[in-house]
Formats: sequence, C-alpha cells, structure tokens
Amino acid sequence: MWRWDQGRLSYFQFDALRQVASFIQTNDFKTATREQLQNATGLAFRAPETHSPWRNYSRILKLCLLVSEIEGFAQATPIASILARDGLVTCDEYFHFLICAFTEPSPALNNWSPAENFRYPLLFSLKYILAKIAMGKIPVTSLDEIIGAYRESDFDGTENDEQFIAIMRDDLLYENSGKSISHKDLQRQARESLKVISQISYLYVKNNDMIVTLDREDAHKVFQNLSAILGPRENDKDAEIQRLASFFGNDTTDIILGYPSTATEDTVESGFVEGSKVKKTHIIIERNKRLRAEFFSKYPLATCDVCSLDTAKTYPWVTRILDLHHLLPLSSGTRVEKRGTTFEDIVPVCPNCHRAIHRFYDAWLAENEKIDFKDIKEARDVYQGVKNRFTGWIAG
Ligand SMILES: [Zn+2]
Ligand SMILES: [Zn+2]
Repeated sequence: MWRWDQGRLSYFQFDALRQVASFIQTNDFKTATREQLQNATGLAFRAPETHSPWRNYSRILKLCLLVSEIEGFAQATPIASILARDGLVTCDEYFHFLICAFTEPSPALNNWSPAENFRYPLLFSLKYILAKIAMGKIPVTSLDEIIGAYRESDFDGTENDEQFIAIMRDDLLYENSGKSISHKDLQRQARESLKVISQISYLYVKNNDMIVTLDREDAHKVFQNLSAILGPRENDKDAEIQRLASFFGNDTTDIILGYPSTATEDTVESGFVEGSKVKKTHIIIERNKRLRAEFFSKYPLATCDVCSLDTAKTYPWVTRILDLHHLLPLSSGTRVEKRGTTFEDIVPVCPNCHRAIHRFYDAWLAENEKIDFKDIKEARDVYQGVKNRFTGWIAG
C-alpha cells in the first residue's frame, strides 16, 4: 500500500501550499520557527517543544514536492517557485501534476531506493474512477473501492483505458479488499491522499465516496491526457524530489486540463472575461452539479448573500436560480476536510449579483496589476468590498 501523511489535511489545502511555497522562497524552512511559519501562513504548525517545525512538517512539504534538503538547507523546488507567484498555476494543474509524479515508494518518505519497481497510486486512482465514468457507470466510487482495486490489480497506473476497463469487474470485491487492510494507518493514509486530490474541480468527496462531475466524453479526454512522470530516478531522495518537481510546465500540463467544454461555454455566456485558466477553474467549481445539489439540500431557503433577494419567492416557477460563488482565490480548489468538501467558502448569490461580483473582481485585479488574489483573506476582503458598495435592493 502507499504511504502518505495523516491527520493534517488542512496543510494540504492548495491555498496553504501556496503560502508555504511563497515563504520558502526567502526563508530556510529547516531553521524556521513556529512563529515565523504562523505569521507567514496562518497555519498552526504545532509541534512538541523538542521538535522543530521542519522535523514535524517536512514530510507534507516533500509529499507536495515543494521542498527538499540540499546541502543542509531546505531548498524550494521549481514547482514551489511557480506556486509562489499568484495566478500562474491553478489548483487543477498543480494536483494533476502531483498525481502524475507521486510514486510508491515515495522519495518524500523512508525506504527510498531508485532501483524499486515504481507504482503511481494516485494516477491509478484517478484513472480508475475516470474509466468508470467513461464506461457509463455511476459517478460515485467509495475510497475503499479505489484502494482495493489498486491492491488487487498489479497495475502501476501507467496502463491505458482498455486495460483499465478490463479490470472493472467486481466493485464489491475491491471495496472489501480496501476495507480489509489490517494496517489501519495505511488505510487512513491512502484515504487522505485521495481527499487531497479531490481539490480538483471535477472531483468531490462526500463522506467516504469520491464523486466525479465530468460527463463520459470529458472523463475519457482527461484520462487520455494523464501520463506518469518517469525516471531515471536519482540515488538520493532529496535530489529525486527536485527532479520530479522540475517537470511541471513541460507543456503536458496544459493538455492534462481538458476543461469540460460546457463549463468553458458557461464562462463566456455569463460575461466573465475569457481566456484565463484561473477563471475557468473557478467557474467549473461553481458549476459543480454535485456541490450545488449538496449545498441546496443543506440550505433549501438560501437567499442572495449580496442583495438578499429571495429567488424562491420572486420566481416561484423556477427552482434554484441562485448561483454559488466560490470565495477562495480564483485559482484555488474546494476545501477538503475529514468528512469531505466543505461549504465554508461558498456563498449563494443571485445571477445579477454574481455577474457584478466578478466584474468587481476583474476591475480590482486590473487596478492592482494582479492575475489572482494572494490568499483567502484578500479574496474575502474584496468580496466584502462588493457587499459594502452594494446600494440597490435593501431587504426590509
Ligand atoms: Zn443578488
Ligand atoms: Zn463566482
């Protein structure tokens, strides 16, 4: 089974990784104090007195290919430098890259040897669920089934679509195999790694199920564009992390992101500025059907967060005319927690206000010469700016 981290999902949030990436551009994480890290990232970086943050948290950074130890220093990787610059890479691009680079065994963990036979567990997992969609199966797969399929097959993750279709036999067998892993930590780690990649805009975790919101054709397209980052491996694990991290941007990443055409059309239709990858990712998250269904089943009486319009009353003949607006920076993914995706960063808005919010964003970003917001705080502040300046309908 593949190893990962456990119990610290919030450190794997795309937004948190961007903050860390930015911090390590000018600071040595190895000697960084907890206070420095807290100030720079807003994360706790809790560690026992006797442990440095590096000792406790370097595993996360290494798994994410942000840093490795070179000549006694924590050296930022090439992908970390790209992540540190706002808006250059979207959440989708980054996690697709990580999926294609992550191996069992991993140079981020112990027992590294470049001579091993490598498997790509996350690549296997994504291909497995995409192949199910491409075959017309239901888009809900339990995390245990994915883990079990990896266990039962001898696939390394580089196999093609026909090969994957050939192993789709018994969902229940796989699920039981995934459930029956006797080493509970391994099971937990595998599940958590799948939750981490569910930050991709078309994936969604609910309890212990992974849900894909692509149609058959798009699922197949994405599958075709996934390819493992191969070796020759470095002898030294820290050097191997740097090697893997240098592959980002070698034009494969653009192809990997086969944005569903419908979402792209929606972007244009809703009046958002065209042509920007970060904005498309944002819209895909907002149009995520499953997320919408979950949100409105939890908040059936939602009204517009800006103008308070109660669309259910005003337009009684239409259901759910409200849009969901995603507060995180445009290039960020959805948040994952222990139990799945959260609604913390999602606000319901009417289509008019939604359009106005994005116009406001565009104007604000242009004025500040930015491609994207720096972090969630900046995004929240600008959104609050929209609400403060709203003078139209005031709900009585
Ligand atoms: Zn409104
Ligand atoms: Zn929006």
